[in-house]
Amino acid sequence: MADKILKKEKLGALIESVTGKGGRFVAPTTDAHQVVFKKIKSADEVAGDYILARNSFKEFLFPQTEVVAEFTMGKDSVDMRGVEVHAPQTVVFGARPCEAASLAGMRALFTWDFVDEFYTKREENTVVVTVGCTKGDDACFCTTVNLSPESTEGADVYLREAGDSYTVKVISEKGKKFLEAHAAVFGEGKAKEDALFMPEKIKEVDLAKVSARLKDKGHYDDPVWAKLTRKCIGCGACTFVCPTCRCFDMVDEGTAFEGERRKNWDSCQYDTFTLHASGHNPREHQHQRWRNRFMCKFHFYPEKFSSKGCVGCGRCIRVCPVRLDITEVMVEFSK
Ligand code: SF4
Ligand code: SF4
Repeated sequence: MADKILKKEKLGALIESVTGKGGRFVAPTTDAHQVVFKKIKSADEVAGDYILARNSFKEFLFPQTEVVAEFTMGKDSVDMRGVEVHAPQTVVFGARPCEAASLAGMRALFTWDFVDEFYTKREENTVVVTVGCTKGDDACFCTTVNLSPESTEGADVYLREAGDSYTVKVISEKGKKFLEAHAAVFGEGKAKEDALFMPEKIKEVDLAKVSARLKDKGHYDDPVWAKLTRKCIGCGACTFVCPTCRCFDMVDEGTAFEGERRKNWDSCQYDTFTLHASGHNPREHQHQRWRNRFMCKFHFYPEKFSSKGCVGCGRCIRVCPVRLDITEVMVEFSK
């Protein structure tokens, strides 16, 4: 395929082309002084100057809440009915390479012992267009987890800023079809690419050592957990913005006679997350809940799914009200 470029002035035409075919176009936009991923309708809504959207685009594949079944209670029976999966054709534009890399782990989780078609159908109908980062901050650490602004894992199309254009690289078959479907918007040619922002690798972090220490259950009662995480207030914000966090709860809502079963985001940082009906809680203290989250990122995901549990986006650091920095824990467990 010849070199392709996308002129920034053609972004509006791309949005129209996608929405005109009935698709939804999701991009970082400014809302209440924050850049967030939202469904948009025009190019002037797209944020031009941002590091990373505050939220992950995961909510367009795995919504905060959704109905997965409906039920009616009879005198001696329950009628449970499945619902249609709402999986519109979607383009996620302007995602960063780190967060696109989270998709492998999400898919592994949602197809592990049961295929969750609510997730898989949406993911299949989504084209992820990433843009290499030309800006970053001190919370970015993708290079420490072996990714970079040049990574294309999880992307369908990878763009690079190039003055008033983007250079375009097709990554997947889905990306190829996307370019073909909106061919009039893309031009042929080359452009001089802007420099990428390359976060400095944290040299004190050794992922192999982190993994080895977490494998040995001896760390469970190490007082270092309480020491490192004592300021955590258990708000759960880190889990909601994290592109790889995907815990959910099933809740029945309605009356005693009929209602709906909902799949709602949950957080392992809440004390009720593991609370048993007996009143016993195996993760009674906040540092135990934090330990679980860290193990999920650097032990459970890599061991079980051979995928990354943390992509180094730094969202959890930026959003944390007490600035608990996951990289400090990575450093401690690299010793
Ligand atoms: S743990 Fe933090 S840095 Fe890692 S992927 Fe989640 S939000 Fe990003
Ligand atoms: S955002 Fe910070 S305070 Fe809130 S649960 Fe996560 S680590 Fe704890």
